[in-house]
Amino acid sequence: MSANHYDVIIIGSGAGGGTLALKLAPSGKRILILERGGYLPREKQNWDTTEVFVQNRYVSKDTWHDKNDKPFQPGSHYFVGGATKMYGAALFRLRKEDFTAHRTADGVTPDWPISYDGLEPYYTQAEKLYNVHGQRGEDPTDPPASAPYPFPPVSHEPRIQELTNSLKRAGYHPSFAPTGILLNEADAPNSKCLRCDTCDGFPCLVHAKADAEVIAVRPALKYPNVTLLTNACVQKLETSASGNEVTKIIVERDGQREAISGDLVIVSCGAANSARLLLMSSSEKHPRGLANGSDMVGRNYMFHNAIALVALSRRENPTVFQKTLTVNDFYLRAPDYEFPLGNLQMIGKSKGPMFREDAPKFAPGWTLDQMARHAVDFWLMGEDLPLPQNRVTLNSKNEIQLHYEFTNQEPINRLRKQLQSMLEHLDLHPHLIPNNLYLGKHIPIAGVGHQSGTCRFGTNPKTSVLDVNCKAHELDNLYVVDTSFFPSIGAVNPSLTAIANALRVGDHLLQRLK
Ligand SMILES: Cc1cc2nc3c(=O)[nH]c(=O)nc-3n(C[C@H](O)[C@H](O)[C@H](O)COP(=O)(O)OP(=O)(O)OC[C@H]3O[C@@H](n4cnc5c(N)ncnc54)[C@H](O)[C@@H]3O)c2cc1C
Ligand code: SF4
Repeated sequence: MSANHYDVIIIGSGAGGGTLALKLAPSGKRILILERGGYLPREKQNWDTTEVFVQNRYVSKDTWHDKNDKPFQPGSHYFVGGATKMYGAALFRLRKEDFTAHRTADGVTPDWPISYDGLEPYYTQAEKLYNVHGQRGEDPTDPPASAPYPFPPVSHEPRIQELTNSLKRAGYHPSFAPTGILLNEADAPNSKCLRCDTCDGFPCLVHAKADAEVIAVRPALKYPNVTLLTNACVQKLETSASGNEVTKIIVERDGQREAISGDLVIVSCGAANSARLLLMSSSEKHPRGLANGSDMVGRNYMFHNAIALVALSRRENPTVFQKTLTVNDFYLRAPDYEFPLGNLQMIGKSKGPMFREDAPKFAPGWTLDQMARHAVDFWLMGEDLPLPQNRVTLNSKNEIQLHYEFTNQEPINRLRKQLQSMLEHLDLHPHLIPNNLYLGKHIPIAGVGHQSGTCRFGTNPKTSVLDVNCKAHELDNLYVVDTSFFPSIGAVNPSLTAIANALRVGDHLLQRLK
């Protein structure tokens, strides 16, 4: 066997690809991970708000284009561990209802080809692997689980506990946000996680966030049969003459192109880039792009309807680690509305420089730091629909063009009003700035953190790219295991589902590799 041939090649080392590498590592098979980025540098700037949020120190230099061809810089991160290096580690299961077709304000979501029960064992494994802290049973939408969370919930700080108590008194069901950090509150001096105020949206300087590099890639590399090539950007997948299997992977490293081959090829570049790679890999046998006889590759792009909402309180909010609370009372419907609204959760504590763009018009006379000290910060998330016209295509330079029309706007706007009215009716009220000052920002298409859906899995090769095992319908040895496979997105953060699915696909591949 040639030195450039592997049993398995995994392209992309994030939530999907990194997790799969660890799952397959004990098989002893020769596994190669190709990652376009390097290791995210450990440096003081990891925790510097201006560097991270204003200078975009860790954001890729990519240019993408909107449907009108207007260029924008997407919030994408190319490192070992992928976007999980920057994530908030809110590791939610999708709700049971998300797996079946349901009506939303603007249309019906599709059925998943697997049920919640089919994925449940893998959610449990994923929570264990990614050190999820949480508590079952408080959230009315919690799906059934075969095991408790492996770690107790991350405790609320006093201000968030107050908010929780007030919400409970008002009849809501606030619960602890499930969180993947390596925190041991019972033994703080020996805890890897320091419980700091620069977590959500920042890399973790002390490697205490359960990201794919720390949890999956580094442990996978302890196996002698696993190799990682960094700064290795895959440009094209070539097939045999029949077009039925990928036989060559063209990789660019240090400006040089080389060819590598593998028996099984797993694409996990993130939803937009996986579609891009398949579209760039067109050939005589696959004229519309690899695995794209259905013309489905790149379609059904979703990224959530999301609002970052800041309530400016008269009292200072000294919370350090704020992302501990979630409310799902409106996930399936609201008392006065028959359609799902979505999920409410906290977001990392805001800091002055983050307000640079928007603040002055909202709070004239306040300094940015003063605003941040008084801010209580929420993240509102609603489901966007998978629409065939919402899609990734490529321009003549092979850059991503994102055609996207917003859907389901009414529910997210109602969720915002709902939260504002809840806060006004709670005993937080006397402390709110007069006129109920809220700063709310709808996340634009450049906020690609929750991208998904571009290679959906399904049973019908005419309407999906992947089969139930996430193998391309049209090829024998090509799989996709990042968030591309989602047929719908639900209204909770996507990573745990990508991780659980990678573990599920891993079981299938282990059988295949025997
Ligand atoms: C700021 C931020 C906060 C977030 N917070 C949360 C959260 O709290 N909870 C949650 O569940 N999710 C969160 N997310 C989303 C989460 O990070 C993603 O859903 C998840 O990482 C997706 O996993 P993936 O495997 O699909 O892609 P990624 O993790 O992005 O991995 C893709 C990898 O492929 C590599 N790659 C791309 N193209 C190529 C190529 N051609 N050749 C080789 N390698 C390539 C990339 O460099 C990257 O490493 C957040 C995201 C961001 C940006
Ligand atoms: S809160 Fe913990 S996991 Fe998050 S960045 Fe700080 S030390 Fe790292």
